[in-house]
Amino acid sequence: MKEYTEPVNFIDLNAQQKTIRENLGLAINKVLEHGKYIMGPEVSEFESLLKDFTKSKNVFSCANGTDALTIAMMALEFKAGDVVFVPSFTYIASAEAAALLGITPFFVDVDERTFNISAESLQLGINEAKKQNLNPVGIISVDLFGQPADYNEIKTIASKEGLKIVADGAQSLGATYYDKNVGLLGDISTTSFFPAKPMGCYGDGGAIFTDNDVLAERINSIRLHGRGAEKYDHTRLGVNSRLDTIQAAILIEKLKIFPKEIQMRNEIARTYNKIFKDCNYIRTPKIKDGIISTWAQYTLIINNRDEFQMKLRDIGIPSVIYYPKPLSQQPGYKNYPSISSGTPISERLCKEVLSLPMHPYLEKSTIEKIANIL
Ligand SMILES: *Cc1c(COP(=O)(O)O)cnc(C)c1O
Repeated sequence: MKEYTEPVNFIDLNAQQKTIRENLGLAINKVLEHGKYIMGPEVSEFESLLKDFTKSKNVFSCANGTDALTIAMMALEFKAGDVVFVPSFTYIASAEAAALLGITPFFVDVDERTFNISAESLQLGINEAKKQNLNPVGIISVDLFGQPADYNEIKTIASKEGLKIVADGAQSLGATYYDKNVGLLGDISTTSFFPAKPMGCYGDGGAIFTDNDVLAERINSIRLHGRGAEKYDHTRLGVNSRLDTIQAAILIEKLKIFPKEIQMRNEIARTYNKIFKDCNYIRTPKIKDGIISTWAQYTLIINNRDEFQMKLRDIGIPSVIYYPKPLSQQPGYKNYPSISSGTPISERLCKEVLSLPMHPYLEKSTIEKIANIL
C-alpha cells in the first residue's frame, strides 16, 4: 500500500494560520465593518504594539521593506551621488533602494560563517571610496537570514568615519543583539512584513524604527507625501507608503504568537544543527555570541550542493538557494563600485549555500527524513 504523506512546505503559512484562523477572521471583519482601509485604528494600534515589542522610541509602518529603506535614506538626507556600503551577499532590495535615489551602492564582502557584512571589508571599502574622492555617507548593514550583523564592530567604524547606519532588518525582526532588539541597532532600522519573513502579513508591509526624534518626524512626513503640520501642506519631497489597515489587523494577531514562534524556530535550528554536526562536507550556520536569531532561513554551506539538493528533492524535501548571485555581479548593478579585491566570499557562498525548510511548525519527522540521507 502506498503511503500518503503531505508535501513538505519550505515555509508553512497554513500551519500557522490554523492556530489563529478564528481571530484573524474576527480582526479582518472588524476592518470591513469600520471601513477605514487607509490609516485605520489598527495601524496605530499595531505601531504601538511594535513599539512595546522592540522598545524602539519611534515606530512607523509603511508599505513594504524596500520603501522602509528608501524612506530611511531620505530621512537621513543622503543625496544623489553619495555612497553607501552594501554587502554583496544579500537580497537585491538592500542596494536597490539606494540606487533608485541616485545614491551609489558600494559593494563590500561578508563574513564566511555568519553571512553578514565583514568589518574588515567594510573598512577597506571606506578607505578606497575616500581615495576615489567619493562621498561615503552610510552603511546598509543587513541582518541576513535573521541574524543581526555585528553592530559593535559596525558602530565603531561608523562613528570613526562619520557614517550613518541603516540597519536592514527585513529578515530579523524579533532577533536580539546583546539584549538589544532589532529596531534599535541602527540610526534607523527597517523591517519587512512580506509573507515569507519571520513576521509576515498577507500582502506587503514594512516598518521603520528610530530613537532619534528629529529623524522620526521626517520619516512620518516622508511616508505621507512629505506632509507638514496640515493635511495639504507638503514641507518636503515624500512618497506614498502606508501599511493597509487590513494588513495591520492581521499583524496584530500574528505579533501575539510571534515570541513563541521565535522560540520554536530556535528549537528547530538546534535540531538541525545536531543532525549536521558530524557531517564533514556540511557547515552549519554560525550564530555569534550574544545574538539570538529569528532564523528567517536555515542555511548550510555544502561543497557538493547540487548533489545534496537532488537527494533532498528525491525524498520530497524542498530547498532554496538564497542567493545564487552576488549583487556585484547582477547585470543591473554591474556598473556600481566594489572593493578592488572583489567580493570572493560572497561569490563562493553563492555557489555553496542551501536553505532548508524553516518555519515554527516544521515537523520533527521532516528533519529525521533529512537526517537519513546523510
Ligand atoms: C525582503 C527583503 C527586503 C525588502 O522587503 P520587501 O517588503 O519585500 O520590500 C529588503 N532587504 C532584505 C534583506 C530582504 O530580505
